[in-house]
Amino acid sequence: ELTLDAAYFGRWLSAAAELFERDAARLTALDAAAGDGDHGANMVRGFGAVREAAAQNAPGTPGELFSLAGTTLTNSVGGASGPLFGTALRRTGKRLGAAEAVTLPEFAAALRAGAEAVGKLGGAVPGDSTLLDALLPALDALDARGSSAEGALDAPGSAGDALGVREITDALSAASAAALAGAEGTGAMQARKGRASYLGERSIGHEDAGAHSVVLLFDALVLAADP
Ligand code: ADP
Ligand code: MG
Ligand code: MG
Repeated sequence: ELTLDAAYFGRWLSAAAELFERDAARLTALDAAAGDGDHGANMVRGFGAVREAAAQNAPGTPGELFSLAGTTLTNSVGGASGPLFGTALRRTGKRLGAAEAVTLPEFAAALRAGAEAVGKLGGAVPGDSTLLDALLPALDALDARGSSAEGALDAPGSAGDALGVREITDALSAASAAALAGAEGTGAMQARKGRASYLGERSIGHEDAGAHSVVLLFDALVLAADP
């Protein structure tokens, strides 16, 4: 059994901070090839600050936790990724509202609102070789799982009930795999937003660093489901 509550998402933030520390050099190398080589350091600093803020403020609901995380990311990261991931998380939090716990479809819908806010803020569309090229396929995978699970994941009024850990972990793992496929797919794309776009056609052949950070965020959701 698993409840998607503040405790779960707190474990997610800690797992994410650890994964960014583990993979900082790889993310930085990806960004160095097409950008300015600071993405790993940016995400380590940002999620380190988020982990601290969550420990100090102990948000009581998923919505509060995501709002705090988004604001902290925006304020602690100088690069483009701070406001972009920060906006995604803050908008997700706003959409989650004041519920003590959320269903997986509710969470997926909130993430979708966050992704739309990123598109509005940065002007990127699918195929521009940005973090959206990992995030949107991951959300599509979540939606596909949610609607094919015979209602198990979106039973009316099930918010706050413990959900099957297997179903949730499977859906999140599928989302992570879709994010990875999307991130790898950015190698074939010409970057049209962010610093990598300065390379023009020479950006083709380089996978987007921010898209790989999205993969880590979904990996952390899986890890947090199985503490
Ligand atoms: P900076 O480019 O300022 O150094 P980072 O290196 O931390 O910031 O983050 C770069 C990542 O941000 C890119 O790999 C890409 O995924 C994402 N990104 C940059 N610009 C945009 C945009 N306009 N829309 C969506 N994502 C973007
Ligand atoms: Mg950079
Ligand atoms: Mg930079």
